[in-house]
Amino acid sequence: MSENNVVFVTGGSRGIGKQVALTYAEHGYNVVINYVSDKTDVEALKKEFDEKGVESLILKADVSNQQEIDEIVKKAIDKFGKIDVLVNNAGITKDNLLMRMKEEEFDRVIEINLKGTFLVTKAVTKYMMKQRNGSIINLSSVVGVSGNAGQCNYSASKAGIIGFTKSIAKELASRNIRANAVAPGFIETDMTNVLSDSIKESIYNQIPLKRMGTAREVAELIYFLGSEKSSYITGQVINVDGGMVM
Ligand code: NAP
Repeated sequence: MSENNVVFVTGGSRGIGKQVALTYAEHGYNVVINYVSDKTDVEALKKEFDEKGVESLILKADVSNQQEIDEIVKKAIDKFGKIDVLVNNAGITKDNLLMRMKEEEFDRVIEINLKGTFLVTKAVTKYMMKQRNGSIINLSSVVGVSGNAGQCNYSASKAGIIGFTKSIAKELASRNIRANAVAPGFIETDMTNVLSDSIKESIYNQIPLKRMGTAREVAELIYFLGSEKSSYITGQVINVDGGMVM
């Protein structure tokens, strides 16, 4: 069993989650990631981590399914013996105006974004409590702080993550486990690529830095929050949004 630190990133196959996992790998962490889509090229992903000189475990599991999550967390512990940092990143959008939003659209976003964060945190914390050490970083969003027309399901899930994070930060501090949330603004990934040019233009006008952020810019903050450099920071929500919400 290698002595490297271990990071567990949900939804690490694309976008912010993948960049987070690669950033930790650059700092010598062994990496566990999960994904849900059959389109995921596991071999190609594994190669990217091999090239960083670290070990990786890439597993399929839906974060909203307790049994699947318990199984992959156990596999991670069997392989690496510990999890030092958990990044609850997996998330989806199903946008619609309130009057058009179907119950299934509301439920699915809450199930994956909020309940998924609960299920994975519970499964991983069991081991972090025994270690008496750990850092948990949950992906919220600026819209969880400010709200956004057309995203009442997503905003509610991301606001819920803030309350969840502050509660577990209070519960777990005595075991030397920290929990923080990051609230990205508009970041260039598949999630935002679907927006039209006119919507993007109107978004730029709300961002003091006048551009979208990159996954790398979010990953650097998440790396800091997982590292000992942030050892006195817990229960916080930190925006990485070009000044969009202040
Ligand atoms: P993305 O590019 O759409 O990637 C989403 C990731 O989540 C993929 O790895 C996907 O796996 C995984 N995933 C989706 N549903 C899952 C499920 N049920 N179980 C397990 N994994 C699942 O998203 P992103 O833009 O990188 O966003 C990452 C996080 O940041 C999300 O929580 C999002 O809400 C948050 N965020 C993003 C932005 C932004 O502007 N992009 C802004 C604020 C917050 P597959 O590849 O298998 O589908």
